[in-house]
Amino acid sequence: MILDGKEIALRLQNEIKTNVEELKKRLINPALAVIQVGEEKASESYAKNIRREGENLGIYVEHHKLASDISEEELLYNIKNLNLRKDIHGILIELPLPQQINKTKVIETISPEKDVDGFHPINFGKLFEGTTPFQPATAQAILTAIKSVVSIEGKHAVVIGRSNIVGKPTAALLLQENATVTICHSKTRNLKDITNLADILVVSVGKPKLIDRNYVKPGAVVIDAGINKIDGKLVGDVDFDSVKAIASYITPVPGGIGVLTTLMLFRNTVKAANLQSKII
Ligand code: NAP
Repeated sequence: MILDGKEIALRLQNEIKTNVEELKKRLINPALAVIQVGEEKASESYAKNIRREGENLGIYVEHHKLASDISEEELLYNIKNLNLRKDIHGILIELPLPQQINKTKVIETISPEKDVDGFHPINFGKLFEGTTPFQPATAQAILTAIKSVVSIEGKHAVVIGRSNIVGKPTAALLLQENATVTICHSKTRNLKDITNLADILVVSVGKPKLIDRNYVKPGAVVIDAGINKIDGKLVGDVDFDSVKAIASYITPVPGGIGVLTTLMLFRNTVKAANLQSKII
């Protein structure tokens, strides 16, 4: 069956809107600052999506579009200013950043209280401890999709991909939900033998149609986080038509995990606004 992200998204949008209303009743206007460096097409469209969704949810999005030749010092200065502002609750830096800028330094400069992406080392450490307030958005989207159709406890979950953005946080959250977790990557031997043991298979590699039915145990839940463009069309890392026939559930691309990811960012922004209002 198709695990439709759009259906889950509707439920999430309602949940977030209710939480935003609660905040506004307390005169708190949740706000997210998005920092875009340069004018790459993918960054432009990500920022546009965020602005549109923010408007829909009633969350203020402040878009900071900075020149691609900005110095690291100036970028860090901008972030520090946003850290100090009481009217901004979350800060998102669009990646990748230009060469002259040290990504680690930038992420470490965001105040952990406003790090709605969850990539600051303090929050990333807390993720593995099980205590982060801000679970990274794509991993949260993946977990929400899985939980909407099966219980995770005791299942064997195989995650292909070990990036800090998707693979590692997803594995951490699956472990927290009491799955037995195997992480695979480009150096993994006999990938097919391992994936065929998976009750839950999460794929986040960035290679179109890498996974076909030969990699999938019949009845498995297959989550495709990949986003690739072929001839102007979006496709995932999973060969959808081949795998659909034997998986119990499979997320489509587009219309699966991608739809949920931006919403998770706003869920984290609402959480940040709540946490900050308690500190003050
Ligand atoms: P990434 O940083 O390039 O990581 C890719 C991972 O795949 C690496 O761990 C790599 O292994 C592994 N890999 C590469 N080739 C492999 C192979 N043949 N077999 C097994 N593993 C292999 O990419 P990412 O940022 O995680 O993104 C992955 C995909 O997810 C992309 O298509 C991206 O667009 C998409 N994405 C989607 C969302 C969303 O919201 N849906 C969010 C972020 C990213 P090594 O570590 O050994 O190199």
